Amino acid sequence: MTQRISVLSIVLIVLCQLTLSAADPRPNIVFIFSDDHCEQAISAYDPSRITTPNLDRIANEGMRFNRCYVTNSICGPSRAVIQTGKYSHINGFKTNRDRFDGDQLTFPKLLQKAGYQTAIVGKWHLVSTPQGYDYYDVLKGQGPYYNPPMITAGEDGKPVTRKHTGYTTDIITNKTLDWLKNRRDGDRPFMVMFQHKAPHRNWMPGPKYLNWLDDVTIPEPETLWDDYSGRTQAASRQQMTIRAHLTDRDLKLQGYGTMNAEQIKVWDAAYGPKNEAFLKVRDQMSETELVKWKYQRYVKDYLRCVKSVDDGVGRVLDYLDESGLSDNTVVIYASDQGWYLGEHGWYDKRWMYEESLKTPLLVRWPGKVKAGSVNEDIVSNLDFAETFLEIAGVEIPSEMQGRSLVPILKGQTPSDWRQQFYYHYYENPGAHNVARHYGITNGRYKLIHFYALEGQKLDDWELFDLEADPNELKSVYGSPQYATIQSKLTVELARMREQYRVDTDTNIKPPPKRNAR
Ligand code: CA
Repeated sequence: MTQRISVLSIVLIVLCQLTLSAADPRPNIVFIFSDDHCEQAISAYDPSRITTPNLDRIANEGMRFNRCYVTNSICGPSRAVIQTGKYSHINGFKTNRDRFDGDQLTFPKLLQKAGYQTAIVGKWHLVSTPQGYDYYDVLKGQGPYYNPPMITAGEDGKPVTRKHTGYTTDIITNKTLDWLKNRRDGDRPFMVMFQHKAPHRNWMPGPKYLNWLDDVTIPEPETLWDDYSGRTQAASRQQMTIRAHLTDRDLKLQGYGTMNAEQIKVWDAAYGPKNEAFLKVRDQMSETELVKWKYQRYVKDYLRCVKSVDDGVGRVLDYLDESGLSDNTVVIYASDQGWYLGEHGWYDKRWMYEESLKTPLLVRWPGKVKAGSVNEDIVSNLDFAETFLEIAGVEIPSEMQGRSLVPILKGQTPSDWRQQFYYHYYENPGAHNVARHYGITNGRYKLIHFYALEGQKLDDWELFDLEADPNELKSVYGSPQYATIQSKLTVELARMREQYRVDTDTNIKPPPKRNAR
């Protein structure tokens, strides 16, 4: 009798679990993330250089955010902020030299605990092995554009490196689709991070787009010829100009990266004639002509990389439609930061200036987000973890420093939503020599303090009025006309540094080199 009862109760429990999981109404989350992809290269934001029909689909069927600011405009740190919902000085990953402490609290761990399946495919870039994921298949370090080695869990659960042949953007898309189609458990909600290396430096296009844009001229930004005279010394002491700092590898005048012989043949057929035509006239070109040529070569390669990302987004959106998943899946597109497509004469990121402070953010959530809506609130990558948790109905830990975007997505911005934002960049000495700086912006005015450069202390301040000077060409710090706003922002900046428990960061000497991974 007792045995029969226990068998019956087991059957009941199993049935109950099956019913619960089959009826689990919690939305799925597809987080699509790219590296160094700026708004200027998404047609939903700016149609002047490229058409990205698939990214635009997310915008047209969802919400486009015009003021998504990152807390620290560089690859690894941005990813650590997203994992934790905390600023760099709290999560411990301040520069690309750091190693992510995966033992700390992260949003995928909380989703997993709540019964979500979690997966990450593509660029991870946080050095330590991903934690909180049922499945991971990630690029080793930065990852090359062709034939990437990728790390996944082997049969014993330990990380193994596997080789792949092909174009990295397509491989990451294929693997994401494979996970969605064949590897996940169809009865449970999921969160998948579909993360590209592209369009990171050195902008190597896929075979399909090697000659795309050959016959067009990309418009130059207004500030391509910026002479940095209206700002403090930091702007002129950087090393990220199209004029002087792009290498022959960046410009595709030499090097094949990790391509194999077959891929090199295809590459040479496309770039060989273009390079030959350029090299014939290079010596006769003026410096201006040379900068213009470099700009075209650089921006076209960047846009070609974006095009493959957009194609992959389209394939995943199509699969969500075909499989009937679209209606209950939130699709998010973002990048780890913005980028300079020649603005101020630059490539790269790092600055608190607009192009790299902002990152694209597009969110589609059928039935919740109004199609084609545009939002101007100040939101941040600091808010992503909190947003994912609220979507999944999981309580947001009070130690997280951002705030869920769910009310905003539903068209109801809370009355006490943030009106200003704190930014902090640390990596100096470091690549491109951008001074350490922090600052505050309310979307109209921006106050920046540069405090260390090349191991020396700085005490340089800049203030911008974005309405009068949207390109941030002339700091008005110290100008009597702006005295009131300057003192207000100075007080608020100090208050925010306290609120976020910012450390003093007095050790401005170069840190020791990280051990080999
Ligand atoms: Ca990046």
